[in-house]
Amino acid sequence: MNILLLGSGGREHALAWKMAASPLVDRLYCAPGNAGIAQEAECVALDIADHAAVIAFCNEKAIGLVVVGPEAPLCAGIVDDLEAAGIKAFGPTKAAAQLEGSKGFTKDICRANNIPTAAYERFTAPQPAKDYVRKHGAPIVVKADGLAAGKGVVVAESVAQAEAAIDMMFEGGLGAAGAQVVVEEFLQGEEASFFALCDGTTAIPLASAQDHKRAFDNDQGPNTGGMGAYSPAPVMTPEMTARTMTEIIEPTLRAMAAMGSPYKGVLFAGLMITEDGPKLIEYNVRFGDPETQVLMLRMMSDLVPALMAARDGVLKSFDLRWYDDAALTVVMAAKGYPGDYQKGTVIEGLDEAAKVEGVQIFHAGTKADGDRILVNGGRVLNVCAIGRSVAEAQRQAYAAVDKINWPGGFCRRDIGRRAIERGT
Ligand code: AMP
Repeated sequence: MNILLLGSGGREHALAWKMAASPLVDRLYCAPGNAGIAQEAECVALDIADHAAVIAFCNEKAIGLVVVGPEAPLCAGIVDDLEAAGIKAFGPTKAAAQLEGSKGFTKDICRANNIPTAAYERFTAPQPAKDYVRKHGAPIVVKADGLAAGKGVVVAESVAQAEAAIDMMFEGGLGAAGAQVVVEEFLQGEEASFFALCDGTTAIPLASAQDHKRAFDNDQGPNTGGMGAYSPAPVMTPEMTARTMTEIIEPTLRAMAAMGSPYKGVLFAGLMITEDGPKLIEYNVRFGDPETQVLMLRMMSDLVPALMAARDGVLKSFDLRWYDDAALTVVMAAKGYPGDYQKGTVIEGLDEAAKVEGVQIFHAGTKADGDRILVNGGRVLNVCAIGRSVAEAQRQAYAAVDKINWPGGFCRRDIGRRAIERGT
């Protein structure tokens, strides 16, 4: 079978690496891809927002499955358009992608189905939202309803900060994403990322992971797309996993099916593990980045039949195997990220770094220039390692980081610390 993967980040490099190892794949294409993905797949300069162009490419290359990496094309209905054209696609329809595309939509599903989540209200005007904030006090969380590239959430430590966030969103600071706002209770606990593969009715849990959102060591500095991750997440005990499946994932699938929008694809639940158990912070409708990088290292089974089974609605009899080993990834970013940063600086030493035992390097924002690898994004590299423990994986990953010669980059030095302190 020929596969087309859509996307260009570290997540897509990890998916491409895993799929390229499948004996079921004849040709693997990626649009638009990056310098690392080019080692696993044929990168094609398709505009993935142009669904007609993607369909034409699929017909020309006899693509048997399209795997969609990022959320934007899913929310824009690329799976609907591909399937309508007779091309199999892995991922949710536009209607089902509302689980990520509208925070209010997801909160209402939670409320109607007793799915544990933060108490909330939805607002279409600033004053009632501010009244709600004054009534409940700080800390409190203000969220733009729509997709805002990770900038749509303000965890406000004061009423004034919450009110400023409400004004910013309703004044168009986040574009159309902020035309509606959710204000919700601040949850206390430890966060975890939980992934389930879904076929519309059945969900099977993938491994758990934990990411590190802040830019600097000790969880300081601004929020980012993620500066590192490890798997498994010790906070996700077998009991927490079972509760997450029965209290959160399965009722969501039943609710979506009952609405006529069965959910197929990967459902990524951002969880807060509270004293009362797991609570849903948000859903994403695709693989996480950088969590996928560690999940793919730990997955023993072939990914391709799993994606096909989800798309075909036959996950019920499916079994996924995982290595017991832990995996960890350190994100190397361009200095200045998540603010302004310089593109085009040169990265050296990647070949030496990749020779460290257990290490796999995935590219995120890179571009090839002859033999040179240049920076082409904020998050640039995922230096990943597998080991018998998180501590061992961490040691190997940082040994590889230290072999990379890139003065224009930086990374956190404490990825995995929490798991290691727990003695796992
Ligand atoms: P989200 O984009 O919804 O994942 O939110 C980004 C981050 O904001 C999350 O990873 C949490 O750290 C934090 N956050 C979001 N909602 C809440 C909440 N209700 N209580 C506490 N922290 C939250």
